[in-house]
Amino acid sequence: MGGDLGEWLSAGLKTSSELTGKLKGLRDLERQLDQVELKKELLDVSERVLELREALLQAREEIHIRDQAISDLEAALAGKQSVRRINGLLRELDSDGCPTEVRICDRCNSVEDKLVPMNRLSEGRFICPNCKNSVSEYNAPPLPDL
Ligand SMILES: [Zn+2]
Repeated sequence: MGGDLGEWLSAGLKTSSELTGKLKGLRDLERQLDQVELKKELLDVSERVLELREALLQAREEIHIRDQAISDLEAALAGKQSVRRINGLLRELDSDGCPTEVRICDRCNSVEDKLVPMNRLSEGRFICPNCKNSVSEYNAPPLPDL
């Protein structure tokens, strides 16, 4: 993420206040009718306007980058709600909110805030490829008929 937004905005504000001063000077020069000085000052003001425009464009670009980072974070937060605990383990939910067969590592989810799909070791046993945490799923066997 870019971190120069404050710098670009400061540059833009500094240039705009300098331009305000220049314009006051131009009004004074206009009264004195000094053509050479007036041309020189007009050229300078034109250059500063371009600098101001550049600073504002850069600031707009930084805002765009930050907006994207915010929507990425929002998507990540929404992703946090896409799991449900079933039989003791977190299951990934599909786009309709139905649990899939993918088990998510509890430790990585709570400690690192990551959704890490676990690998199946054997029936009901899973291991996390990230933190190597291995867990057993609680499968209640159906009660036999009496
Ligand atoms: Zn893990």
